[in-house]
Amino acid sequence: MSATRSWLDSANGDTDFPIRNLPYGVFDDGGGARCGVAIGDRILDVGKVHHGLDPTLFAEPAWNAVMAAGPAVWAALRARLTELLSDAAHRPAVEPHLVPMAGARLLMPFRVSEYTDFYAGRHHATNVGTMFRGAENALPPNWLSIPIGYNGRASSVVVSGTPVRRPWGQVKGPNDELPRFAPSARFDIELEIGAIVGQPSEGMVPVAAADEMIFGYVLLNDWSARDIQAWEYQPLGPFQAKATATTISPWIVTRAALEPFRTATPEPERPLLPYLTPSRPGLYDIDLEIGLTPEGGTETVIARTNYREMYYSSAQQLAHHTTSGCPMRVGDLLGSGTISGPDRENRGSLLELSWGGKEPFALAGGATRSFVEDGDTLVLRGAAKGDGYRIGFGECSGQLLPAVAQPDWAR
Ligand code: CA
Repeated sequence: MSATRSWLDSANGDTDFPIRNLPYGVFDDGGGARCGVAIGDRILDVGKVHHGLDPTLFAEPAWNAVMAAGPAVWAALRARLTELLSDAAHRPAVEPHLVPMAGARLLMPFRVSEYTDFYAGRHHATNVGTMFRGAENALPPNWLSIPIGYNGRASSVVVSGTPVRRPWGQVKGPNDELPRFAPSARFDIELEIGAIVGQPSEGMVPVAAADEMIFGYVLLNDWSARDIQAWEYQPLGPFQAKATATTISPWIVTRAALEPFRTATPEPERPLLPYLTPSRPGLYDIDLEIGLTPEGGTETVIARTNYREMYYSSAQQLAHHTTSGCPMRVGDLLGSGTISGPDRENRGSLLELSWGGKEPFALAGGATRSFVEDGDTLVLRGAAKGDGYRIGFGECSGQLLPAVAQPDWAR
Protein backbone atom coordinates (compact mmCIF):
# COMPACT_ATOMS: atom_id res chain seq x y z
CA MET A 1 0.00 0.00 0.00
CA SER A 2 1.29 3.48 -0.80
CA ALA A 3 -0.09 6.67 0.64
CA THR A 4 0.92 10.29 0.37
CA ARG A 5 -0.91 11.78 3.37
CA SER A 6 -1.28 10.91 7.04
CA TRP A 7 -4.10 11.75 9.43
CA LEU A 8 -1.32 13.33 11.52
CA ASP A 9 -1.06 16.96 10.34
CA SER A 10 2.64 17.39 11.17
CA ALA A 11 3.48 14.58 8.73
CA ASN A 12 1.99 16.47 5.79
CA GLY A 13 3.92 19.74 5.95
CA ASP A 14 7.53 20.82 6.23
CA THR A 15 9.06 17.69 7.75
CA ASP A 16 11.88 15.17 7.26
CA PHE A 17 9.40 12.45 8.17
CA PRO A 18 6.32 12.34 5.92
CA ILE A 19 4.40 9.08 5.59
CA ARG A 20 6.50 8.16 2.56
CA ASN A 21 9.59 8.00 4.80
CA LEU A 22 8.78 6.03 8.01
CA PRO A 23 12.38 5.62 9.23
CA TYR A 24 13.27 3.32 12.12
CA GLY A 25 14.97 4.37 15.34
CA VAL A 26 15.23 3.72 19.06
CA PHE A 27 13.98 6.26 21.58
CA ASP A 28 13.53 6.80 25.30
CA ASP A 29 10.91 9.23 26.55
CA GLY A 30 11.56 8.31 30.18
CA GLY A 31 9.73 5.02 29.85
CA GLY A 32 12.74 2.98 28.74
CA ALA A 33 14.44 2.44 25.39
CA ARG A 34 12.31 0.95 22.62
CA CYS A 35 11.87 0.80 18.85
CA GLY A 36 10.10 3.73 17.21
CA VAL A 37 9.09 5.00 13.79
CA ALA A 38 9.38 8.72 12.98
CA ILE A 39 6.23 10.36 11.61
CA GLY A 40 6.02 14.17 11.43
CA ASP A 41 6.96 15.54 14.86
CA ARG A 42 6.07 12.27 16.62
CA ILE A 43 7.54 8.83 17.21
CA LEU A 44 5.28 5.81 16.89
CA ASP A 45 5.91 3.36 19.73
CA VAL A 46 5.80 0.54 17.22
CA GLY A 47 5.82 -2.34 19.68
CA LYS A 48 2.53 -1.12 21.16
CA VAL A 49 0.36 -0.98 18.04
CA HIS A 50 -1.33 -3.89 16.32
CA HIS A 51 1.13 -4.52 13.50
CA GLY A 52 0.18 -8.13 12.91
CA LEU A 53 3.81 -9.28 13.09
CA ASP A 54 5.74 -11.39 15.58
CA PRO A 55 5.84 -9.21 18.75
CA THR A 56 9.33 -10.46 19.62
CA LEU A 57 10.63 -8.41 16.67
CA PHE A 58 10.38 -5.36 18.94
CA ALA A 59 11.34 -7.06 22.21
CA GLU A 60 14.71 -5.32 22.43
CA PRO A 61 15.64 -1.70 21.71
CA ALA A 62 17.35 -2.32 18.36
CA TRP A 63 16.19 -3.07 14.82
CA ASN A 64 18.46 -6.11 14.36
CA ALA A 65 15.61 -8.61 14.88
CA VAL A 66 13.49 -6.95 12.19
CA MET A 67 16.47 -6.89 9.85
CA ALA A 68 17.17 -10.58 10.48
CA ALA A 69 13.52 -11.43 9.72
CA GLY A 70 14.13 -10.61 6.05
CA PRO A 71 12.73 -8.67 3.10
CA ALA A 72 9.20 -10.15 3.26
CA VAL A 73 8.82 -8.88 6.84
CA TRP A 74 10.39 -5.52 5.89
CA ALA A 75 7.74 -5.07 3.18
CA ALA A 76 4.88 -6.25 5.39
CA LEU A 77 5.86 -3.91 8.22
CA ARG A 78 6.16 -0.90 5.93
CA ALA A 79 2.78 -1.64 4.33
CA ARG A 80 1.11 -2.05 7.72
CA LEU A 81 2.65 1.15 9.15
CA THR A 82 1.54 3.06 6.06
CA GLU A 83 -1.99 1.75 6.52
CA LEU A 84 -2.09 2.54 10.26
CA LEU A 85 -0.86 6.10 9.76
CA SER A 86 -2.86 7.02 6.64
CA ASP A 87 -6.28 5.44 7.21
CA ALA A 88 -8.16 7.60 9.73
CA ALA A 89 -10.09 4.54 10.88
CA HIS A 90 -6.94 3.48 12.77
CA ARG A 91 -6.42 6.86 14.43
CA PRO A 92 -8.13 6.12 17.76
CA ALA A 93 -6.05 2.97 18.30
CA VAL A 94 -2.75 4.42 17.09
CA GLU A 95 -2.71 8.00 18.36
CA PRO A 96 -2.20 7.09 22.05
CA HIS A 97 1.11 5.48 21.02
CA LEU A 98 2.55 8.58 19.36
CA VAL A 99 5.24 10.22 21.48
CA PRO A 100 6.43 13.82 20.91
CA MET A 101 9.87 13.59 19.32
CA ALA A 102 10.93 16.81 21.07
CA GLY A 103 10.71 15.14 24.48
CA ALA A 104 12.49 11.90 23.56
CA ARG A 105 16.16 10.93 23.58
CA LEU A 106 17.21 9.18 20.38
CA LEU A 107 19.52 6.21 20.88
CA MET A 108 21.54 3.88 18.63
CA PRO A 109 18.98 2.39 16.21
CA PHE A 110 20.76 -0.97 15.83
CA ARG A 111 23.65 -3.01 17.20
CA VAL A 112 26.59 -2.48 14.88
CA SER A 113 28.09 -5.91 14.15
CA GLU A 114 31.11 -4.66 12.26
CA TYR A 115 32.05 -1.45 10.51
CA THR A 116 33.86 -1.08 7.19
CA ASP A 117 34.68 2.25 5.62
CA PHE A 118 35.23 2.81 1.92
CA TYR A 119 36.91 5.49 -0.19
CA ALA A 120 34.53 5.71 -3.13
CA GLY A 121 34.22 9.43 -3.85
CA ARG A 122 36.21 10.40 -6.90
CA HIS A 123 36.39 14.11 -6.06
CA HIS A 124 37.48 13.36 -2.48
CA ALA A 125 40.10 10.80 -3.53
CA THR A 126 41.43 13.22 -6.16
CA ASN A 127 41.57 16.14 -3.72
CA VAL A 128 43.27 14.17 -0.95
CA GLY A 129 45.62 12.44 -3.39
CA THR A 130 46.61 15.78 -4.91
CA MET A 131 47.44 17.15 -1.47
CA PHE A 132 49.42 14.07 -0.37
CA ARG A 133 51.05 12.89 -3.62
CA GLY A 134 50.63 15.65 -6.20
CA ALA A 135 48.12 16.01 -9.05
CA GLU A 136 49.96 13.52 -11.30
CA ASN A 137 49.50 10.63 -8.87
CA ALA A 138 46.28 11.79 -7.21
CA LEU A 139 44.28 8.60 -7.77
CA PRO A 140 46.00 5.42 -6.58
CA PRO A 141 46.50 2.97 -9.48
CA ASN A 142 43.87 0.55 -8.10
CA TRP A 143 41.18 3.17 -7.46
CA LEU A 144 39.30 2.88 -10.77
CA SER A 145 39.15 -0.92 -10.40
CA ILE A 146 38.51 -1.60 -6.70
CA PRO A 147 36.14 -0.03 -4.18
CA ILE A 148 38.98 0.57 -1.67
CA GLY A 149 38.12 0.12 1.99
CA TYR A 150 39.46 -0.72 5.43
CA ASN A 151 38.02 -2.57 8.40
CA GLY A 152 36.98 0.01 11.00
CA ARG A 153 35.81 -0.26 14.59
CA ALA A 154 32.19 -1.06 15.47
CA SER A 155 32.92 -0.29 19.14
CA SER A 156 33.26 3.45 18.56
CA VAL A 157 30.15 3.98 16.39
CA VAL A 158 27.93 6.40 18.32
CA VAL A 159 24.56 8.02 17.73
CA SER A 160 24.03 11.69 16.91
CA GLY A 161 24.33 13.95 19.94
CA THR A 162 27.16 11.98 21.55
CA PRO A 163 30.16 14.24 22.30
CA VAL A 164 33.50 13.23 20.79
CA ARG A 165 36.79 13.66 22.67
CA ARG A 166 39.82 14.98 20.78
CA PRO A 167 42.23 12.05 20.62
CA TRP A 168 45.88 11.73 21.54
CA GLY A 169 48.13 9.96 19.13
CA GLN A 170 51.53 9.58 17.58
CA VAL A 171 52.29 12.32 15.09
CA LYS A 172 55.31 13.43 13.12
CA GLY A 173 55.13 16.74 11.30
CA PRO A 174 57.37 17.72 8.40
CA ASN A 175 59.63 19.69 10.79
CA ASP A 176 59.81 17.01 13.50
CA GLU A 177 62.95 14.94 13.62
CA LEU A 178 61.22 12.27 15.70
CA PRO A 179 57.56 11.35 16.27
CA ARG A 180 55.74 12.94 19.22
CA PHE A 181 52.77 11.84 21.37
CA ALA A 182 50.27 14.70 21.36
CA PRO A 183 46.59 15.59 21.03
CA SER A 184 45.60 15.61 17.36
CA ALA A 185 45.97 19.16 16.02
CA ARG A 186 44.30 18.35 12.69
CA PHE A 187 41.02 16.74 13.75
CA ASP A 188 38.47 16.49 10.97
CA ILE A 189 35.15 15.08 9.83
CA GLU A 190 34.04 13.17 6.76
CA LEU A 191 30.53 13.47 5.34
CA GLU A 192 29.37 9.99 4.34
CA ILE A 193 26.30 7.81 3.93
CA GLY A 194 26.24 4.55 5.90
CA ALA A 195 24.57 1.47 4.43
CA ILE A 196 23.17 -1.05 6.94
CA VAL A 197 23.36 -4.70 5.97
CA GLY A 198 20.09 -6.40 6.92
CA GLN A 199 20.75 -9.94 5.71
CA PRO A 200 23.75 -12.21 6.27
CA SER A 201 25.88 -13.77 3.54
CA GLU A 202 28.13 -16.78 3.11
CA GLY A 203 30.36 -16.70 0.07
CA MET A 204 30.35 -14.41 -2.94
CA VAL A 205 27.29 -12.24 -3.64
CA PRO A 206 26.52 -10.51 -6.96
CA VAL A 207 25.83 -6.75 -6.96
CA ALA A 208 22.08 -7.19 -7.53
CA ALA A 209 21.75 -9.54 -4.55
CA ALA A 210 23.96 -7.29 -2.43
CA ASP A 211 21.55 -4.43 -3.09
CA GLU A 212 18.69 -6.57 -1.76
CA MET A 213 20.67 -7.26 1.44
CA ILE A 214 20.74 -3.55 2.35
CA PHE A 215 18.08 -2.65 4.91
CA GLY A 216 18.56 1.11 4.91
CA TYR A 217 20.84 4.09 5.16
CA VAL A 218 22.00 6.64 7.73
CA LEU A 219 24.18 9.75 7.61
CA LEU A 220 27.67 8.98 8.84
CA ASN A 221 30.48 11.21 10.12
CA ASP A 222 33.85 9.46 10.00
CA TRP A 223 35.82 11.62 12.47
CA SER A 224 39.44 11.62 11.31
CA ALA A 225 42.71 12.75 12.91
CA ARG A 226 44.67 13.87 9.85
CA ASP A 227 48.04 14.29 11.58
CA ILE A 228 47.86 10.81 13.11
CA GLN A 229 46.65 9.44 9.76
CA ALA A 230 49.49 11.02 7.76
CA TRP A 231 52.16 9.34 9.91
CA GLU A 232 50.55 5.93 10.44
CA TYR A 233 48.76 5.13 7.16
CA GLN A 234 51.51 3.56 5.08
CA PRO A 235 51.45 0.72 4.21
CA LEU A 236 48.29 -0.67 5.91
CA GLY A 237 45.94 2.30 5.81
CA PRO A 238 44.17 4.22 8.57
CA PHE A 239 44.18 2.77 12.10
CA GLN A 240 44.02 5.06 15.17
CA ALA A 241 43.25 8.11 13.00
CA LYS A 242 39.77 6.71 12.39
CA ALA A 243 39.16 4.76 15.61
CA THR A 244 38.10 7.58 17.96
CA ALA A 245 34.47 7.80 16.87
CA THR A 246 32.05 7.43 13.98
CA THR A 247 28.74 9.24 14.42
CA ILE A 248 25.54 8.09 12.71
CA SER A 249 22.13 9.75 12.43
CA PRO A 250 19.44 8.19 14.64
CA TRP A 251 16.92 7.18 11.96
CA ILE A 252 17.41 4.28 9.54
CA VAL A 253 15.91 5.48 6.26
CA THR A 254 14.79 2.32 4.50
CA ARG A 255 15.83 1.33 1.01
CA ALA A 256 12.12 1.19 0.19
CA ALA A 257 11.63 4.88 1.09
CA LEU A 258 14.58 5.90 -1.11
CA GLU A 259 13.49 3.80 -4.11
CA PRO A 260 12.03 6.75 -6.12
CA PHE A 261 15.37 8.56 -5.88
CA ARG A 262 17.65 5.94 -7.42
CA THR A 263 20.28 7.28 -9.76
CA ALA A 264 23.10 5.62 -11.64
CA THR A 265 26.79 5.52 -10.80
CA PRO A 266 28.86 7.32 -13.45
CA GLU A 267 30.04 5.55 -16.58
CA PRO A 268 33.25 3.82 -15.42
CA GLU A 269 36.38 5.45 -16.76
CA ARG A 270 38.06 2.05 -16.80
CA PRO A 271 35.81 -0.96 -17.49
CA LEU A 272 34.81 -2.69 -14.26
CA LEU A 273 35.28 -6.41 -13.82
CA PRO A 274 31.98 -8.26 -14.37
CA TYR A 275 31.49 -8.98 -10.65
CA LEU A 276 31.30 -5.21 -9.99
CA THR A 277 29.06 -4.30 -12.92
CA PRO A 278 25.78 -2.86 -11.63
CA SER A 279 22.52 -4.24 -12.96
CA ARG A 280 20.48 -1.22 -11.90
CA PRO A 281 21.11 2.36 -10.68
CA GLY A 282 22.88 2.01 -7.33
CA LEU A 283 23.09 5.55 -5.95
CA TYR A 284 20.39 7.93 -4.69
CA ASP A 285 19.76 11.62 -5.27
CA ILE A 286 20.25 12.84 -1.68
CA ASP A 287 21.13 16.48 -0.98
CA LEU A 288 23.67 16.74 1.83
CA GLU A 289 25.14 19.56 3.88
CA ILE A 290 27.57 20.20 6.74
CA GLY A 291 26.92 22.81 9.44
CA LEU A 292 29.63 24.05 11.84
CA THR A 293 28.69 25.88 15.06
CA PRO A 294 31.47 27.21 17.31
CA GLU A 295 30.75 26.94 21.03
CA GLY A 296 28.26 29.70 21.89
CA GLY A 297 28.13 30.84 18.25
CA THR A 298 25.85 30.54 15.24
CA GLU A 299 25.91 27.89 12.54
CA THR A 300 27.60 28.26 9.17
CA VAL A 301 26.78 25.77 6.42
CA ILE A 302 30.32 25.03 5.22
CA ALA A 303 29.55 22.55 2.41
CA ARG A 304 26.73 21.23 0.24
CA THR A 305 26.96 18.12 -1.92
CA ASN A 306 24.93 15.11 -3.11
CA TYR A 307 25.26 11.34 -2.71
CA ARG A 308 24.97 10.89 -6.51
CA GLU A 309 28.59 12.17 -6.77
CA MET A 310 29.95 8.76 -5.69
CA TYR A 311 31.83 6.48 -8.10
CA TYR A 312 30.86 3.16 -6.47
CA SER A 313 27.52 2.30 -4.85
CA SER A 314 27.04 0.57 -1.49
CA ALA A 315 25.81 -2.52 -3.37
CA GLN A 316 29.08 -2.66 -5.35
CA GLN A 317 31.08 -2.19 -2.14
CA LEU A 318 29.11 -4.92 -0.40
CA ALA A 319 29.53 -7.31 -3.34
CA HIS A 320 33.27 -6.60 -3.35
CA HIS A 321 33.40 -7.20 0.42
CA THR A 322 32.03 -10.74 -0.06
CA THR A 323 34.48 -11.82 -2.79
CA SER A 324 37.02 -13.09 -0.24
CA GLY A 325 34.37 -15.31 1.32
CA CYS A 326 34.13 -12.87 4.23
CA PRO A 327 30.67 -13.47 5.76
CA MET A 328 28.54 -10.36 6.21
CA ARG A 329 26.31 -10.14 9.25
CA VAL A 330 23.02 -8.50 10.14
CA GLY A 331 23.98 -5.06 11.47
CA ASP A 332 27.14 -4.63 9.42
CA LEU A 333 27.71 -0.95 8.67
CA LEU A 334 29.40 0.22 5.45
CA GLY A 335 30.61 3.82 5.17
CA SER A 336 30.39 5.14 1.61
CA GLY A 337 33.56 7.21 1.70
CA THR A 338 33.63 11.00 1.83
CA ILE A 339 31.09 12.59 -0.48
CA SER A 340 32.68 15.59 -2.14
CA GLY A 341 31.45 17.26 -5.32
CA PRO A 342 33.31 18.98 -8.15
CA ASP A 343 33.51 22.49 -6.66
CA ARG A 344 35.13 23.99 -3.60
CA GLU A 345 31.80 24.44 -1.76
CA ASN A 346 31.02 20.72 -2.33
CA ARG A 347 33.92 19.38 -0.27
CA GLY A 348 32.91 16.85 2.38
CA SER A 349 35.83 17.30 4.82
CA LEU A 350 37.65 20.24 6.42
CA LEU A 351 40.92 18.85 5.05
CA GLU A 352 39.60 19.59 1.57
CA LEU A 353 37.73 22.79 2.46
CA SER A 354 40.92 24.33 3.92
CA TRP A 355 43.18 22.52 1.41
CA GLY A 356 45.28 20.86 4.07
CA GLY A 357 45.11 23.92 6.33
CA LYS A 358 46.71 26.19 3.70
CA GLU A 359 43.46 28.03 2.92
CA PRO A 360 41.43 28.54 6.12
CA PHE A 361 37.75 29.22 5.37
CA ALA A 362 35.51 31.83 6.99
CA LEU A 363 32.58 31.26 9.34
CA ALA A 364 29.67 33.60 10.00
CA GLY A 365 30.88 36.20 12.48
CA GLY A 366 34.40 36.35 11.08
CA ALA A 367 36.16 33.36 12.67
CA THR A 368 38.08 31.00 10.40
CA ARG A 369 38.72 27.26 10.46
CA SER A 370 41.22 24.82 9.03
CA PHE A 371 40.25 21.88 11.26
CA VAL A 372 37.74 21.24 14.04
CA GLU A 373 38.35 23.28 17.20
CA ASP A 374 37.38 22.35 20.75
CA GLY A 375 33.71 23.11 21.40
CA ASP A 376 32.74 23.06 17.71
CA THR A 377 29.55 21.18 16.86
CA LEU A 378 29.45 19.54 13.43
CA VAL A 379 26.09 18.60 11.99
CA LEU A 380 25.40 16.57 8.85
CA ARG A 381 21.97 16.82 7.24
CA GLY A 382 20.50 15.05 4.25
CA ALA A 383 17.26 14.64 2.35
CA ALA A 384 16.00 13.17 -0.91
CA LYS A 385 13.66 15.76 -2.36
CA GLY A 386 10.43 14.74 -4.10
CA ASP A 387 7.55 16.78 -5.46
CA GLY A 388 6.20 18.57 -2.38
CA TYR A 389 7.88 16.30 0.17
CA ARG A 390 11.28 15.12 1.30
CA ILE A 391 12.72 11.91 2.68
CA GLY A 392 14.92 13.32 5.45
CA PHE A 393 17.53 11.65 7.63
CA GLY A 394 17.30 13.99 10.63
CA GLU A 395 20.59 15.26 12.02
CA CYS A 396 23.96 13.60 12.54
CA SER A 397 25.55 15.84 15.15
CA GLY A 398 28.56 15.77 17.45
CA GLN A 399 30.46 18.29 19.57
CA LEU A 400 34.24 18.06 19.94
CA LEU A 401 35.45 18.08 23.55
CA PRO A 402 39.04 19.00 24.49
CA ALA A 403 41.63 16.24 24.78
CA VAL A 404 42.16 14.73 28.22
CA ALA A 405 45.19 15.93 30.20
CA GLN A 406 48.41 14.10 29.43
CA PRO A 407 48.79 11.14 31.79
CA ASP A 408 52.01 10.97 33.80
CA TRP A 409 52.92 7.61 32.26
CA ALA A 410 52.82 9.21 28.80
CA ARG A 411 55.26 11.99 29.57
CA1 CA B 1 35.96 7.77 5.59
